[in-house]
Amino acid sequence: MDRYLCDVLVTMDGPAGAVPAPISGGAVDVGDDGRIAWCGPAADAPALGPGATVHTTGILMPSLINAHCHTPMVLLRGAGEGLPVDRWLHEVMWPRESKLTPGDVRAGMRLGALELLANGITTSVEMYFSGQAVAEGATDAGMRCLVTPGVIEDPDFTLTRPWPEQLDEMVALRDRWAESDLIDVGMAAHAAYSVSRECLTAIAERAAGAGMPVHIHLAEQQWEDAAVRERTGGLAAPEYLESLGLLDGDVIAAHGVWLTPDDIDVLARNDTAVVHCPCSNAKHASGVAPVTDMQAAGLRLAIGTDGPASHHRLDLFEEMRTAIRTARIRSGDAQTFGPAEALRMTTAGAAEVLGWDGLGRLAPGCWADMMALSASEPALHPVIEAEDDPLSRIVWSGSPRAISAVWVAGRKVVEDGRVLTLDVAEAVAEAQARARRLTGARP
Ligand SMILES: [Zn+2]
Repeated sequence: MDRYLCDVLVTMDGPAGAVPAPISGGAVDVGDDGRIAWCGPAADAPALGPGATVHTTGILMPSLINAHCHTPMVLLRGAGEGLPVDRWLHEVMWPRESKLTPGDVRAGMRLGALELLANGITTSVEMYFSGQAVAEGATDAGMRCLVTPGVIEDPDFTLTRPWPEQLDEMVALRDRWAESDLIDVGMAAHAAYSVSRECLTAIAERAAGAGMPVHIHLAEQQWEDAAVRERTGGLAAPEYLESLGLLDGDVIAAHGVWLTPDDIDVLARNDTAVVHCPCSNAKHASGVAPVTDMQAAGLRLAIGTDGPASHHRLDLFEEMRTAIRTARIRSGDAQTFGPAEALRMTTAGAAEVLGWDGLGRLAPGCWADMMALSASEPALHPVIEAEDDPLSRIVWSGSPRAISAVWVAGRKVVEDGRVLTLDVAEAVAEAQARARRLTGARP
């Protein structure tokens, strides 16, 4: 048993979407199975048995969940800078991605995992090809991953085999990792405009049959609506996906920028979850998602960084702040969308989006996926007890620099900014060589 004593305990374990008040002077007991045995005010903690180890931390909270990412795209980070999304995909991303080997994907996932873990992110939802390589890269680093290998049908994208074989492989991948506590597997379709009706229908059927979630980009760019209506006889993307039965199961829809009130109604009646990607949406000039309208409709919501080729950083502190800023710019109201709501979308709320019980909260029975923010981080001070709002401090002033430690199932994976699970220099050198090859440049 390990006991973690902290100045402030943020559990994020509230009923029905609520965020509980942080606990001053908290304790978390973690069993040898990596799960939380007890959690609450230190003064109420049970007596420790012999052999228990006591650790002391500053702010202790759930580590973060990145609900939409393409982490291996670190190999393409910075490429096609400034191009609009359709040209960026067709002229830069897909031609380079068509050269990817499974070894490239694993190396990209390993490099990205170093960054994710150091930034306090211990679970990511990955839409990428070579799902086996993604899972291996994630587990090499000791992080959790919902792996959702994705289908794209486009002449500029030639990496993958025919989609029926890809769907078979997705189910086989799920079975291969069924015993892993770190890996879960779903299916993905790139988007309603880039995948055929036949394939989308098949994904709906296979995912329902196998009980797997489906991950898809939805309404990211304004031009998508016309493209989808043209191929569907006038349906908007959410209606179209609903008509195919794709929204019947567990669906994680990324972006949701150009959703009308009718679209949001479609998602709400299907309990479709949406992942807000505010930094990517801003960098690509995609638009500002109607996050408060989606909240009001009762949608399950999370936050994602999107791929590091879309938005260079894998930093959910920055995403949370950008989510708040853009929501307030949209509403013109400084009361809109506060830090607690943003933090819920990277912790407990994100776990609900993933359908992964035991993550995103510190509570008995949950995995001890946690991070500590240092009591000596200057940006988190001063602290005036009578008016302190720790959640506001974490979201507005927090950063990866403030993280003193990160744990996955009680295993320490980051200490003082240093990832303990991989050789950083080796991972960087390997990714560097592979990224250079993808550009066509000489090694
Ligand atoms: Zn994406």
